[in-house]
Amino acid sequence: MIKLQNVVKRYGDHAALDGVDLHVEPGRVHGILGRSGAGKSTLLRSVNLLERPDSGTVTVFGQELTGLGGKELARARRRIGMIFQQYHLLRRRTVADNVALPLELAGLNRTARRDKVLQLLDRVGLADKAKSYPAQLSGGQRQRVAIARALAADPHVLLSDEATSALDPETTAQILGLLRELNTELGLTILLITHEHDVVRQVADTVSVIEAGKIISTEGVSR
Ligand code: ADP
Repeated sequence: MIKLQNVVKRYGDHAALDGVDLHVEPGRVHGILGRSGAGKSTLLRSVNLLERPDSGTVTVFGQELTGLGGKELARARRRIGMIFQQYHLLRRRTVADNVALPLELAGLNRTARRDKVLQLLDRVGLADKAKSYPAQLSGGQRQRVAIARALAADPHVLLSDEATSALDPETTAQILGLLRELNTELGLTILLITHEHDVVRQVADTVSVIEAGKIISTEGVSR
C-alpha cells in the first residue's frame, strides 16, 4: 500500500503540500484530481521522494522511504515506475534501447536485456517498433514506449504524471485501457494525477481531490 502521513512540502513560505494524508490499497488505480497549482505534481513526486517532504512520512509497500537514503532508497525507487506527460524518451536511442535503459542500469547482460525488451514491447503492443526512433512514433506510441520502460524494473507501483494530457481523446482511451490491463493482469498499483475528470472516470477505482495542498475528499469512482 502507498501511505502518506501528514506530508508537508514548502517552497519558501508557500506550502505546496499542507499536511497530506493518503492511503492507496494495493492493486488499486487511484486518481488525484485537482486544478493547476493544487499540488498534484508535488504529491506524486513525494511518493518516490523525487521531492523530499519537509515533514511527514511516505511508506510504500511497508517500507518507509522517508527513513531511507543512498543505496536503499535507490533500490526501493526502482520498484516504483513513473510516466510523464512529455514521455521523457531519449531521442537518439531506438525504442528498444530506451526500454533497455533501466535493464542496463540493473546490470542485465545483453541477451537477457533483448529478451526482456521484446517481451515488454509486446505487452504494450509495439513489438514491430523496436528499431524505430521516438521521433518516428505518434504520441500514443511514445507513451507506450515510456510505459514499457517504466515496467522494465518489475515495479509494484506506477506513478502517472498527466500521462494522457498531450493526447487526443481516442488515444487517451487506448492508453488508459492499457493501464487498466496492466493493473488487472500484473496487479500493478497505479497512482495517477490529472486535471481531467474524464480520465478519473475512465480508469480509477478511487479518487482524491486536492486543493491548495490539501486533500479535500476521497471516494470511490462509479462507472
Ligand atoms: P500541480 O501539479 O497541481 O499543477 P504543483 O505540485 O506543480 O501543482 O505545484 C504546487 C504549488 O507549488 C504551485 O503553487 C507551484 O507554483 C509551487 N511549486 C511547485 N514546484 C515548485 C518549485 N520547484 N519551486 C517553487 N515553487 C514550486
